[in-house]
Amino acid sequence: MPAQPDSERRTTHPPETDDRFSVPLRGVAVDAATRCGHYGDAVDVVALRFPCCDCYYPCFRCHDVATDHGPERVPREAFGDPAVLCGACGATLTVREYLDCDDACPECGAAFNPGCRRHRDRYFAVEE
Ligand SMILES: [Zn+2]
Ligand SMILES: [Zn+2]
Ligand SMILES: [Zn+2]
Repeated sequence: MPAQPDSERRTTHPPETDDRFSVPLRGVAVDAATRCGHYGDAVDVVALRFPCCDCYYPCFRCHDVATDHGPERVPREAFGDPAVLCGACGATLTVREYLDCDDACPECGAAFNPGCRRHRDRYFAVEE
């Protein structure tokens, strides 16, 4: 395969992960701030950890592409564990910190996509 320029990042597949990040991270056309081929707006700079494979993905569709299993959500009892990567500064947030952060990184202030609130239940067991 010919080498790709850095601006056109390859899709990574397990067990391959991306050495630009401090956590295991996979996805489709992921940029340096964890935007992906599905969600690429300026504010789409978080990646989320899926407990089923203990790896971070920019979105659930990236998880679908990179794995051959269905996604599992972070269970409520693990909301104190790091599960969200800020693609802007590289900080990891616990689920609780992310849910309480008012759509901005508590470490660097980067704006997060407020639209993600609508599908939080895809990633976290937020309902009672
Ligand atoms: Zn998984
Ligand atoms: Zn994606
Ligand atoms: Zn940040």
